[in-house]
Amino acid sequence: MVLKELQNIFHIELDAIYGKHEVDSFFYLCTEHYLNVPRIQLTLDPGLAITKPETDTFFKVLEDLKQQKPIQYILGETEFYGLPFKVNEHVLIPRPETEELVDLIIRTFTSSAVEKSIKILDIGTGSGCIAISLAKNLPNVEVYALDISKEALKVAKQNAELNKVDINFIEASILDNTCHSALDADSNFDVIVSNPPYVRNLEKQEIQPNVLDNEPHLALFVEDDNPLLFYKAITNFALKNLKPKGTLYFEINQYLGEETKALLTDTNFQKVELLKDLNGNDRMLKGIKI
Ligand code: GLN
Repeated sequence: MVLKELQNIFHIELDAIYGKHEVDSFFYLCTEHYLNVPRIQLTLDPGLAITKPETDTFFKVLEDLKQQKPIQYILGETEFYGLPFKVNEHVLIPRPETEELVDLIIRTFTSSAVEKSIKILDIGTGSGCIAISLAKNLPNVEVYALDISKEALKVAKQNAELNKVDINFIEASILDNTCHSALDADSNFDVIVSNPPYVRNLEKQEIQPNVLDNEPHLALFVEDDNPLLFYKAITNFALKNLKPKGTLYFEINQYLGEETKALLTDTNFQKVELLKDLNGNDRMLKGIKI
């Protein structure tokens, strides 16, 4: 089938759901992913045709897109902080806000010209995007990444291989003492970072159906009456396991900035800062252990 015709079918079937521009982006992502054909080649060679099995693959993608399955899960990959990451339904699709958190950490530790090696722990690593992009971009780091989900850890391990970094993966929960027994008694970290579940059930109506129906609820949602559950557990863990002057970094729920900040200011953290993301929402929190 001629690719241009297929592109037309994508528009007829999907424009009403996604808009013309996004449908074009999906289509070009697919031509690159499945055919290794870059966008420019389609313009230069409008008669470009593909085989029957290739056409079948595109129709399968079309069906999935009609069901509002995220393109990242359909292709099984995405990009985060300029690096490739495999994703599936067991891990969240990495978000741009999280890239901002990673960037904050990288800028801090690159500019402070740390000579000695730093030890980092990422709690609730999911696809491994935070741990791996830190390991890739900071010299001299020893990175640990923890998750309760075996399936998520499988994906994260693949991503560490794909990006050629060494990460110490730990299967444990931050909510019970499996994480204490899984980590060394003297696990003194310079940095603890986490993007834990923080969306309250009451915010479900704000969440897009493609997120709600496809992404792992385990990684997203918390109960309305205890939305800071993970932040409390991680802060307590950090009080014991961060070195003096070690830094705790969180991605946070934009509606709970002050409450989350209070968790750190009310305990042994200083220089606590609440930072906004590019959309102007309270999204990042950092504090230094006294
Ligand atoms: N930012 C994500 C979302 O809005 C939530 C991530 C999380 O719960 N940690 O879908």
